[in-house]
Amino acid sequence: MSDTSSAHIDTLLQHLGTAPFDPQTGTAPVNLPSMRASTVRFKNLDMLERAQSRKGSGDRALTYGRIGMDTHAALEDVFCQLEGGTHCYLAPSGLAGVTLAFMSLLSAGDHALVADCVYGPVRELDAAVLSRMGIELTYYGAGDDLEKLVRPNTKLLYVEAPGSLLFEMLDLPALAEFAQRHKLILGTDNTWGSGYIYRPLTLGAQVSVIAGTKYIGGHSDLMLGAVVTNDAEIAKRLNRTQYAMGYSVSADDAWLALRGVRTLPVRMNQHARHALEVSEFLQGRPEVARVFHPALPSDPGHALWKRDCSGSNGMLAVQLNLSPQAARTFVDALTLFGIGFSWGGFESLVQLVSPKDLARHAYWQGGDAPVVRLHIGLESPADVIADLTQALERAAAA
Ligand SMILES: *Cc1c(COP(=O)(O)O)cnc(C)c1O
Repeated sequence: MSDTSSAHIDTLLQHLGTAPFDPQTGTAPVNLPSMRASTVRFKNLDMLERAQSRKGSGDRALTYGRIGMDTHAALEDVFCQLEGGTHCYLAPSGLAGVTLAFMSLLSAGDHALVADCVYGPVRELDAAVLSRMGIELTYYGAGDDLEKLVRPNTKLLYVEAPGSLLFEMLDLPALAEFAQRHKLILGTDNTWGSGYIYRPLTLGAQVSVIAGTKYIGGHSDLMLGAVVTNDAEIAKRLNRTQYAMGYSVSADDAWLALRGVRTLPVRMNQHARHALEVSEFLQGRPEVARVFHPALPSDPGHALWKRDCSGSNGMLAVQLNLSPQAARTFVDALTLFGIGFSWGGFESLVQLVSPKDLARHAYWQGGDAPVVRLHIGLESPADVIADLTQALERAAAA
């Protein structure tokens, strides 16, 4: 396609990052190869010096393999298009993307406000690394008055929207207004939306982190992170820090992510359809107290979801009307759901949420009730519902 600038994202995802024609033969494969490299060769010293000075001014310029070759550049372009950003920096995992954002945006003596529904390992980054560097984080909950928590040294407001465990929607435009008033950078973890169904940069955030491990890769076979921004000054900080910290992504993983993202539209839409159907089924079951899924009209975040999101995905959480022991029976009785962490692959997954993690969320009002988090895969929803039915019946009888 010659001009894709105004095309729909579904179109862009099929046409970005294809291989250029060989000038001699006029032929090309559809896909860029996985361009593996450590050393980059230069035709002459002039070319080398030009690349170094471009790199020095914050631009993407190939000087060495760690920065990534054409495969990586194509993937960065895809992330920018998805998120509506101008610059993208890759990281070897989603969590490494989170650490890249924090290390780029904060210095010793700085303070950040962090939503208490944030991806759990952020608290480990805080405890193990940031606290040693003299950076302080305050976790705030749904309903807290941010005006009371902001300090003269607060530099960053960091959220995950919707939250990782209960998918609570946050009012991002309102948070952006608050951040702007206090001169804070608003950073988001947008793994849930992956730029396809939710675009924080268009709602007032300056930084969006995506675990490409999830829906971008889509096949449970790669680890990858991305940090996207639409702010040239922040881009310079990310660029310098990414280089200085030695972040690097294998060309094969960048290639797998590019391959995965071609089918993001069909996968995401099917995950969302099936998860809504499963949510509606679960809501009608006596073993279920509550279903957390913002596309469900009964979810308290539904109005914000309708306003800010263009779709949904396969994630939901279920508060069970069962004893903790019966909840374990339920999880073990499922046959189509893998028991494991992560999500965003083609397959269904289940995880028993730890009560300790729930207790850290002000949004959680369910006391000791057990919660399972489900990722609804691409299986037939009738089969998934049959599997859930037999497991609920076994758990209730136990
Ligand atoms: C999985 C996940 C991450 C981390 O991604 P990895 O690639 O597993 O390191 C970050 N944020 C959210 C919301 C995630 O679900």
